[in-house]
Amino acid sequence: MPIYEYFCPQCDLKFELLRPSSQSSETASCPRCDNGAERIFSSFACSSKSSEGISTPLGRTSPCSTCSAPSCTTCG
Ligand SMILES: [Zn+2]
Repeated sequence: MPIYEYFCPQCDLKFELLRPSSQSSETASCPRCDNGAERIFSSFACSSKSSEGISTPLGRTSPCSTCSAPSCTTCG
């Protein structure tokens, strides 16, 4: 069974749950307050892709040659 992530706005709690994919879009019971928690979609695949995408241009277009930061206020 796949793992899905759910978020309970009552407790501000994120938790993972193993459940059949047929039930993935249904609300899950929060382990803390037992209210319905909504499924959230992990941004992990998305964020790793974008950080990989920026890393190359950042190094090339960096205005600071000392620390290679994109916007450096320390090295001037
Ligand atoms: Zn809760």
